[in-house]
Amino acid sequence: MQFSKASSLLLIALLGISAIAQAQAPRPAGPWFGVQPPPQFGSEAAVIVGARTPREANFGAAAPPEFLGATIKKDVATIVEFSRASQASREFGSGQLWGRVSGFPSSAKTIEWAVAQLRAAGIADTKIQPFKQESRASFWIPLSWEVRLLGDGAFGAGTTDVVLESALPVTASDIAAGKLTAPLVYVGAAHPSVLKHIDVKGKIAVQLIVPQGHMVFERSTVRSRTQDLFKRGAIAVLNLVRLPGNERSTDFGNCGGPCFNLGGRDGQFIETVFDRAAQLGLDDKLRAQLTLKTETRTGLQAQNGVAVIPGSKSAETIVIDAHADAWFDGAGDNADGLAVMLALARHFAKPEHRPERTLVFVVSAGHHSPGLNGPRNFVGANAELAKQAVLVVNIEHVAQRNFSPAREVGADGYRHAVADSGEAPIVFGVTNGAPFLDDLAQQGVARFGVNFISDKSTMQSGETGGFSDVKAAKITIMQAPPLYHTTGEVLEVISTPGLERMARFLAFFIAEATKAPREKINP
Ligand SMILES: [Zn+2]
Repeated sequence: MQFSKASSLLLIALLGISAIAQAQAPRPAGPWFGVQPPPQFGSEAAVIVGARTPREANFGAAAPPEFLGATIKKDVATIVEFSRASQASREFGSGQLWGRVSGFPSSAKTIEWAVAQLRAAGIADTKIQPFKQESRASFWIPLSWEVRLLGDGAFGAGTTDVVLESALPVTASDIAAGKLTAPLVYVGAAHPSVLKHIDVKGKIAVQLIVPQGHMVFERSTVRSRTQDLFKRGAIAVLNLVRLPGNERSTDFGNCGGPCFNLGGRDGQFIETVFDRAAQLGLDDKLRAQLTLKTETRTGLQAQNGVAVIPGSKSAETIVIDAHADAWFDGAGDNADGLAVMLALARHFAKPEHRPERTLVFVVSAGHHSPGLNGPRNFVGANAELAKQAVLVVNIEHVAQRNFSPAREVGADGYRHAVADSGEAPIVFGVTNGAPFLDDLAQQGVARFGVNFISDKSTMQSGETGGFSDVKAAKITIMQAPPLYHTTGEVLEVISTPGLERMARFLAFFIAEATKAPREKINP
């Protein structure tokens, strides 16, 4: 065969390009293509909390002692300790999951402690109201599990299995016989336009989820895309949840098969390994072994705590609710809200602060455990108090610090998140949009420095849903920062002055609402 001069030159050029490409292709350099392994679970905080504290809550006059940030923070720490005890005692299986979980001792103890605080504040009418799990409901609980990337000598000398410790199975995932091993396939954000080019049959699909703010915003998209992956033949799905740190996260349930969420650092490791493997044509050798033990509980029992401060002029009620249940430490969801509510109860229990309307404080069983809804059971067991309500105030996630991506990137390419000196944005949802209530919120920003979002909102979320039978204005005061429902939401990310700001604002707000004409609250 003869080559023309031109085609010979072309061939040489192509060979040259190929030689350069080969020279540039990364060779396996050490275990796992030389990719730095993810940090051990729990070995570093999800976000950097520097020495600069949030700006002080300074209103000219000193806070009453019950509203001092440090005092409220102590209660937050105590509430978090109930979760830590759940972890230490392995309340659930291996101890990989913990919290203050309704239907279990960790929640019961938290509520008993909170009610003891209300009693100690001098509120005579204080009780614990037990209730049973709805008969049709069941509670799926993961007991122990493992996501293990299987090592292969082709990935570099010394490659051994890597256990991704941030893994957490999402609700109702189950693996037949408790174990499966399969090849991995990376599907990016699992858009249908991408999946039409990828064969996921018989494989564990690895899906990237980049929360726009927090996991709640992604719920419906992730659910439909994951179910699509199973329809296309995937046998399991790993969700790489790109959140700060290497945290376990609970969300994205009912995905249609065995699904595990993975934290940011573990996710970055897998993605980098996939890229290196793909460059060497080894990506089809990546495999994982998943194991999972679960149980499903029915017939559980939970309780609410209820304390009533009778009004000096009216039997009409203002119901103030904070849920006591939590996944993991739950310092923001909702230890801070519960601690702020206890501070308010101590304040209004003092004779000099006696309200005109009756105040009802609900230490709620919460809404995480299926069939054990705190607010719904409160309304059922206290029909008269609920009927007399002119306003419901749900204090839910209120004092977590704000953080954003750091300027610096680590040697492994990971960008940390760092706290700033304020609190994360707080939605102030007013179901009926009453101008009087929105105006009080605006005064909260101006006088107390609470970081409410600038737009008015009729949002009702979390606990507020359980009050649907109460025909009155409902306020939802809620942050939903990135770490919520993850193991990263620890005591250190709670703003001490933020607790004080919120407690003082709410004392003002509730005092105004106790004496406002009914038609201003419910126009
Ligand atoms: Zn919550």
